Amino acid sequence: MNQNEILVTGGSGMVGHALKRVIPEAIFVSSKDYDLRSHFEAEIMFATHAPKYVIHLAAKVGGIKANMEKLGDFYRDNALINTNVLESARRFRVRKVVSLLSTCIYPNEVVYPLTEDQIHNGPPHQSNYAYAYAKRMLDIQSRAYREQYGCNFVTAVPNNLFGENDNYDLNDSHVIPAIMHKMYLAKQNGQRVVLWGDGSPLREFTYSLDLANILLFLMEHYDKPEPINIGNTGEYAILDIAQLIASRLDYNGEIVWDTTKPAGQLRKPSDNSRLHSLGWRPEMYTDFKDSLSSACDWFVENYGTARGTENANTQ
Ligand code: NDP
Repeated sequence: MNQNEILVTGGSGMVGHALKRVIPEAIFVSSKDYDLRSHFEAEIMFATHAPKYVIHLAAKVGGIKANMEKLGDFYRDNALINTNVLESARRFRVRKVVSLLSTCIYPNEVVYPLTEDQIHNGPPHQSNYAYAYAKRMLDIQSRAYREQYGCNFVTAVPNNLFGENDNYDLNDSHVIPAIMHKMYLAKQNGQRVVLWGDGSPLREFTYSLDLANILLFLMEHYDKPEPINIGNTGEYAILDIAQLIASRLDYNGEIVWDTTKPAGQLRKPSDNSRLHSLGWRPEMYTDFKDSLSSACDWFVENYGTARGTENANTQ
């Protein structure tokens, strides 16, 4: 497999940027090149680049607020993007597609740790059910095409991701970029930082560069119909993460935990033994503190142009 035979959808996003460091000669496309909600544009993309392999990252992604406010958009855009990409990949006889799901599509009521066989065992959490069901259908379409047409379409399930080139929009970001941005502004403005909950929940986080390496590993080593969990299962308390970020950003102000706001479940562990049985080893993950520091440094260096910081108030 040559790098230039691989096409990466969602190439301008956080994971796409990380993949550029791992397979720089692959073809990276964004919505500016092809709006994949359009079947026609998806066909043009495959006709133009004739990829043999596809890493499918393109998605409408957002935090809990955006997910809840725009349920219809999250369902429609993701269902269209995924249907079009897989259908065109089938028609253009792509040898293999690796697509991304997310641990947030698991049922709300589930037995921990999250194991791949439980994905369809019940409704997802109310807050993001539209995104979750659209992603679940990516699994269904991949399996159905494998059975009927013999397509080698696989799906992988990352947990929480972070890294350089994240989305830092204060209304719409995930926990790590949100804490970074809030602390950056609080430092600039001499204010205190208010974070939701009490900081006690433990969460798993995977560095985007590690995820990129795992995606290439799956391209070479995983050909089964069942989804595969691919996150780093080290758990970190939100409170500790906030302290680490404060220290890296040199923020010495007060961190207030607003316990009137929901903290979320205490733990949401996932099981990555399927990935490790293929030969991926725990020591292949970047040290969490090192990767968090690197993500903080990138954020500070790129403040003003990074996504979600363009119009933020630092006065
Ligand atoms: P980003 O939001 O950073 O990037 C999304 C990418 O999708 C961008 O390149 C964007 O292009 C592209 N895209 C969006 N809409 C369209 C469209 N209509 N047509 C074509 N391309 C489009 O996402 P991440 O890199 O964070 O996520 C990558 C994948 O990982 C996604 O599938 C996501 O569901 C999954 N995932 C992410 C997690 C996370 O914590 N971030 C956790 C678990 C799974 P443009 O820049 O032009 O808008």
